[in-house]
Amino acid sequence: MKKYLLMIGLILMLPARGYAAPTENVVVTIAPLYSLVQGVIGDTGEADLLLKGNVSPHTFQLKPSQVAKLQKAKIVFYIGKGMEVFLVRALETLPDSVTQVSMMDQPEMTILEIREGGEWEHHDHSAHNHGEEEHRDHSADDHDEEAHHDHDEHDHHGHEHEEMGDSHIWLDPANAIVMVKAITKELSKAYPENRAQYKENALEMISKIEASDKEANAVLEPVKDKPYVVFHDAYQYFENYYGLSAVGSIVVEPGDAASAKRIATLRKKIAETGAICVFREPQFSDKLSRLVTEETTAKLGTVDPIGAELAPGPDMYPQLLKQVALELVTCLND
Ligand SMILES: [Zn+2]
Ligand SMILES: [Zn+2]
Repeated sequence: MKKYLLMIGLILMLPARGYAAPTENVVVTIAPLYSLVQGVIGDTGEADLLLKGNVSPHTFQLKPSQVAKLQKAKIVFYIGKGMEVFLVRALETLPDSVTQVSMMDQPEMTILEIREGGEWEHHDHSAHNHGEEEHRDHSADDHDEEAHHDHDEHDHHGHEHEEMGDSHIWLDPANAIVMVKAITKELSKAYPENRAQYKENALEMISKIEASDKEANAVLEPVKDKPYVVFHDAYQYFENYYGLSAVGSIVVEPGDAASAKRIATLRKKIAETGAICVFREPQFSDKLSRLVTEETTAKLGTVDPIGAELAPGPDMYPQLLKQVALELVTCLND
């Protein structure tokens, strides 16, 4: 009897957990994706986030410790090779034991083409800094020169992105739900004991996204036809989903320079369209955004596509949707 009571005592002392195995060695690149992954993992474990704080995936570089973490990972979740350019080389060196999951490769993902031409101009080829390591060896590639302009004298920076589409896919809440489903499928393969728990967590995550989507939509309602200019072209999915009226971006990719001619074109566009705001981004200098708004009636606003100020975790993605909506409205509706 005493032994029996002791047994019960020991069982009661075990931490209560609704899962069979801890989820371990899951690496995620950017915070919005991390939010979705962690939402599915729930309290079965904790994924590792590579890009913490106010850093852009466009300019990020892996530390050796992070490469080591990737080597030991069971699953790596990332957006796509056009987004996490810093990851491309590391992914090639990973052992077969690491499952690499690209969100861009999910069949149900909505992928929009990279916008080019006019005020969505492809990178400025005259002022552009070519010859970055990751963009070498493109000279033999067979590109559609007609669709472009004056490519003969430089490397084909950015063309990998063009072939794969616009990789800022996460600001479409329908895409986020596709991601949650893909994440659930992959995690369930890696940790089948937790399948039921992941599924339950995924359903909860999806309902949070849907609730936040409705709120964002309501917030945006009064500004949907108000024209504005963004810093870099990161918001096509958000605009497309909510029916917003962006009229241009200052640069296609951060790091691209903007020529005096382009600044003049954008100022003209602002005047012609009556653009109310030009949005800077906290990850980059606001010099260009300020320059573009000079001599125009447009105001300077701030919008952050990756939500660097938000605490990483399951609630972050739903918060990000609302935050982007509020950031736009704060300037446009003022
Ligand atoms: Zn080009
Ligand atoms: Zn971007």
